[in-house]
Amino acid sequence: MKAFSFIQASSLGHAAAESAAMGTSFIAGGTNIVDLMKLNVESPSRLVDVTKLGMNQIESDSHGNLRIGAMVRNSELAEHRLVKERFAVLSEAILSGASPQLRNMATTGGNLLQKTRCPYYRDVAFACNKRSPGSGCPAIEGHNRNQAILGGSEHCIAVNPSDMNVALMALGAMIHLHDGKNERAVPIQDFYLLPGGTPHQEFAMMRGEIITAVTVNAQPKGAKSLYVKLRDRASYEFALASCAAIMKISSGVVESVQIAFGGVGTVPWRANRAEQSLKGKAPTTQNFADAADAELIGAAVQSENAFKVELIKRCTVYTLSQLANGGAL
Ligand code: SF4
Repeated sequence: MKAFSFIQASSLGHAAAESAAMGTSFIAGGTNIVDLMKLNVESPSRLVDVTKLGMNQIESDSHGNLRIGAMVRNSELAEHRLVKERFAVLSEAILSGASPQLRNMATTGGNLLQKTRCPYYRDVAFACNKRSPGSGCPAIEGHNRNQAILGGSEHCIAVNPSDMNVALMALGAMIHLHDGKNERAVPIQDFYLLPGGTPHQEFAMMRGEIITAVTVNAQPKGAKSLYVKLRDRASYEFALASCAAIMKISSGVVESVQIAFGGVGTVPWRANRAEQSLKGKAPTTQNFADAADAELIGAAVQSENAFKVELIKRCTVYTLSQLANGGAL
């Protein structure tokens, strides 16, 4: 690990001003950045600690909308009464990831910015367009079993590893960013950038901006939600495929549905086509399968990951079937 200077931010303005300098990274829980620094994947010359800026509240307004401060720890968010009662999919997604120790440290803002687990990205002996733009992508011709089938490009096929972000994608969260003077809110679907020709640019965030909060609106009355995660082992493992869904059935048809996929996309993947396919239809296994197929038309597989097409389809059908049969909150 290279030497770096450590700066304790005393205000949002201070954090924003310090982070405007090249070679500066934020640190909060440190569960991702410290790992990457040890591997020399990240080597900031300055680390700005943002943990003393507040932003650690979970608040609800009179409409049932939630504002989650960026410094709220994953464990606190997952166990919060309002989250468990009204946004169960978010609690389930967080609790399916990492370990209790990591969730105790990891923050909401940090999780949103979580880096890929692509093994080539994490090993500086290899080329990687995301780590070193223009150097190449060995995953495309190499080991790609865990890589993305949706949203990739010829320059990068790395999967987004987060569980929390899949639930937030299904919930249609807004990401609040502050530049030290003003706050702006970005829909989560616009916050994550597809790799295209610039896989090193991952977030719709400017240098000098800091995540202050995430907001989620109350979900339709009578809707049920569920997060289902499929992985190689039962715990402490990233998703091969996961599905977050919120669905309301009324008069025998799907009145509203929000679906997001994890483990298969270069970004937490909002399944817009699947949602369109399902609205107004009967909640049958065949219609759920057709909805998954509608989304997966755009899938692009590599030498080792074609199985993910069937896996995410079955994961989606199972998740929606559980919701339709009343097997979830
Ligand atoms: Fe790098 Fe992306 Fe290729 Fe992995 S998939 S080696 S992160 S460019």
